[in-house]
Amino acid sequence: MLFIFGSTHRDRVLADVHFVCEHCGVAAPQQIIETATKLSLFFVPLVTLGRKHAVVCANCGAATVLTRDQAEHGLQWAERNRRMV
Ligand SMILES: [Zn+2]
Repeated sequence: MLFIFGSTHRDRVLADVHFVCEHCGVAAPQQIIETATKLSLFFVPLVTLGRKHAVVCANCGAATVLTRDQAEHGLQWAERNRRMV
């Protein structure tokens, strides 16, 4: 019997925030991105093996790796700013 399995990476934008980028120094939109690594069988993603978070600058494209707590803090900050507008 033949099994075809592997892993795939799926990116998902969790929120858009706006602050000064530490790389280019410009106040620009930043996207908080979650990358999920999934185990797939016959090219169908089945199980999530892990998640990583990063913030990506729209101006320079630099990506900064975030911990899960930092990503959740960024999401809370984005939600708070959305309510204030
Ligand atoms: Zn930047």
